[in-house]
Amino acid sequence: MSDHPAGLNDLKDRIRDAIRAGGPMPVSLFMLMCLHDPEHGYYATRPGFNQDFTTAPETSQVFGELIGLWAANEWRTMGSPDPFWLVELGPGRGAMMSDLLRAGRAVPGFLQAARIAVIEASPALRREQQIRLAGRDLTCLDDLAEVPAGPSIILANEFLDCLAVRQYIRDGNGWRERQVGLSGESLTFGIGPPAELPPDLLPVGESVEYAAGLGTLAELIAQRFRQAAGRALFIDYGPEDRSPGDTLRAYRLGAQVDPLIDPGACDLTVDVDFPRLRRLCLAEGLSVHGPLQQGYFLTRLGAQERGRKLAACNPSRAHEVLEGVRRLTDPGEMGERFKVVALAPHDAPTPAGF
Ligand code: SAH
Repeated sequence: MSDHPAGLNDLKDRIRDAIRAGGPMPVSLFMLMCLHDPEHGYYATRPGFNQDFTTAPETSQVFGELIGLWAANEWRTMGSPDPFWLVELGPGRGAMMSDLLRAGRAVPGFLQAARIAVIEASPALRREQQIRLAGRDLTCLDDLAEVPAGPSIILANEFLDCLAVRQYIRDGNGWRERQVGLSGESLTFGIGPPAELPPDLLPVGESVEYAAGLGTLAELIAQRFRQAAGRALFIDYGPEDRSPGDTLRAYRLGAQVDPLIDPGACDLTVDVDFPRLRRLCLAEGLSVHGPLQQGYFLTRLGAQERGRKLAACNPSRAHEVLEGVRRLTDPGEMGERFKVVALAPHDAPTPAGF
């Protein structure tokens, strides 16, 4: 029995029907349907976002504040362009944007120059962003490609890890694509016919994942930064030294569950292929800084000092504040697993924190 509200378990039926009609589907299509189906996908329907997992901006306001100071500092090194696009990809409940705008007040002219664009696939989260950021002039868009031309600072926390991936498995001498198929009524993983690996993959080991979206993103950002000043900052998890293998995971109410069991009801996530992102961006002529561990990055930006100051101003919340900063920076918590990558035009100075 599924515990969905009425009608929400239809996605599993539709995936079954699609497989019966067209054969097993690539993992990427399964991910897209689970996350983005407009009627039954996780992001379209789940009111429980942020119960299934907790992100850095939801852990401590210090995260968004430091990202705000970073952005304002980069804006100055870009020559303080006015106006410029302050873009966030996948803002979730708007916590990071809200905290960063508050911190950005410290830098004269920054907020006045910022045109805020939020790129969000989920109507439910768009509504939450409107409420959290009420009073701000928000431009809500579906895609980075829609942001009007001009200087830009592009920010994204835990966005790259929900880009759909194809998965490949080495079988003897060749590669085959992993697929989602049917065994009776149950969804099951299977292996497709021999497949060509995308040419920009450098696999290590017996399995590898490929997010086509990373290439598109690198191209779009490079195009923007060739035409106008810009910086981009991505924070996410994934290995620093190789492409991820089989890392598809599903989370529901804080627990890891089988990704095939209840499509649309769980958050799906994969590790980010930082080495490939780096190669793609370098090939586009961008300068790439990192991946650097989140703990180092936030510490260099002053996380502990900010935490202590905040704690001193709010003695009743001091423990909570300092605990939040510890969770963001401690290597045993989010400090080591999460990495930060900055992109800039090739002739830009090294961004703060790197
Ligand atoms: N950045 C937020 C939320 C992370 S969850 C935080 O750190 O709390 C991922 C976010 O990306 C969600 O808001 C989700 O709806 C959005 N998202 C995922 N894929 C997307 C896509 N292809 N286009 C736009 N938004 C997307």
